[in-house]
Amino acid sequence: MPAIFAFLAILIRHPIFVILAGGAIATSLGDTLGTEIGTLSRNKPRSAIKPWIKLEAGSPGAISLLGALGSILGASLIALIGWSVSLVDTYAVFPSEAWIFIVSIILGGIAGSYLDSIFACTIQKLNKCNKCSKITEKKEHCGNETKFYSGFKWIRNDVVNLLAIAGGSIISLISFLLFSLI
Ligand SMILES: [Zn+2]
Repeated sequence: MPAIFAFLAILIRHPIFVILAGGAIATSLGDTLGTEIGTLSRNKPRSAIKPWIKLEAGSPGAISLLGALGSILGASLIALIGWSVSLVDTYAVFPSEAWIFIVSIILGGIAGSYLDSIFACTIQKLNKCNKCSKITEKKEHCGNETKFYSGFKWIRNDVVNLLAIAGGSIISLISFLLFSLI
């Protein structure tokens, strides 16, 4: 989906597609960096929907402070890259003022990454390991097949990613429209 929005942004030089593409790519990198950097955290992560509950590292919907900072970093990087490209590429559409563009992309990326964690532990299909009782999205654990635990059976991890990216795009667009009114 980020690729589709990016393609539309190139094809149709309209600010709406630039913002949608920016929010989608910012969510992708925010989620990736959040997950990767989050695994380095020494503190136990907390639940995305119930922050007072501590979870095991790597649990679906687990967020650590370090991981959250990773998501902010990822979203900010994309916003800044988008902004620098617009300075060099005279054909790039640069909608309204620079700060509105940058802040909207960052907000969409952060919100999208957070949505990914929320969806991961609510609507995503989750399984339970028969041996160690761990909740996971994987089909196998401890060398055994896992059994269905919660969520919608058709919402697998790739569907969660897609929904989060769509959410990040829309939040970037809404932020952009709201800031443009100021
Ligand atoms: Zn297990």
